[in-house]
Amino acid sequence: MKIAVLALQGAFLEHEKMLRNLGAEVVELRKKEDLEQDFDGLVLPGGESTVQGKLLEELAMFDILQQKIRQGLPVLATCAGLILLAEELSNDDKRYFRTLPVTVRRNAYGRQLGSFFYQGEIAGIGSFPMEFIRAPYIESVKDGVSVLAEVEERIVAVQYKNQIGLSFHPEVTGDCRIHEYFLKTIKKE
Ligand code: GLN
Repeated sequence: MKIAVLALQGAFLEHEKMLRNLGAEVVELRKKEDLEQDFDGLVLPGGESTVQGKLLEELAMFDILQQKIRQGLPVLATCAGLILLAEELSNDDKRYFRTLPVTVRRNAYGRQLGSFFYQGEIAGIGSFPMEFIRAPYIESVKDGVSVLAEVEERIVAVQYKNQIGLSFHPEVTGDCRIHEYFLKTIKKE
C-alpha cells in the first residue's frame, strides 16, 4: 500500500516513519509532478496551515489534491491538516479544501495553554496519548460526521467518509494505533 505524505512544511517525517514501521510504502508530495503517481492514501501533517495553504497554491497542487479528496482518497489529517480540510474556520477568514463538514477553531487553546498532553479515549481505539501543539479544536460538526474523541467537552477527533481529522499529533508519541486504523480503513475499501 502506498501512502503519500504532504511534505511541504511541518511534522511530516514522523508520519513517514510511523507508516513505514507499519509496512506501508511512503512517497512525499513536494511538487505538482509528485501528484501524477497513484497512491492509496494521503497524510496531511501538522505545521502551519497558512504556510501549507499558500505553498499548495503556489506549487499548483491545491486543486488536484482537493479533487482527489472529493473523489474519495482516504486522508489522515492532523492539526494544521485538519484546518486545511475544514469546511469552516470560526476565527479565520481563510478556507482551504473545505471537504470536511466541520467548523474548526485555530489556535483554540490560546498562547499559554497552546501545547499540552492528555491521555484520552478514542472511539474504536481506546485510551490514547494526545499531544496538542498550538492546536485547533472542532467547534461543531454537520450530519454524517462521527465524533471519535472529545477532551474536556471539545471535539478533537472526527471521521467523515474518507477523512479522519485530529486536533492533536498522533505521530510524536510512538503509539501507532491511529495510523494502523487509517491503513485498515484503506484496506477495507
Ligand atoms: N497553529 C497551527 C495552525 O494554525 C496548527 C498547529 C499544528 O499543526 N501543530 O495552522
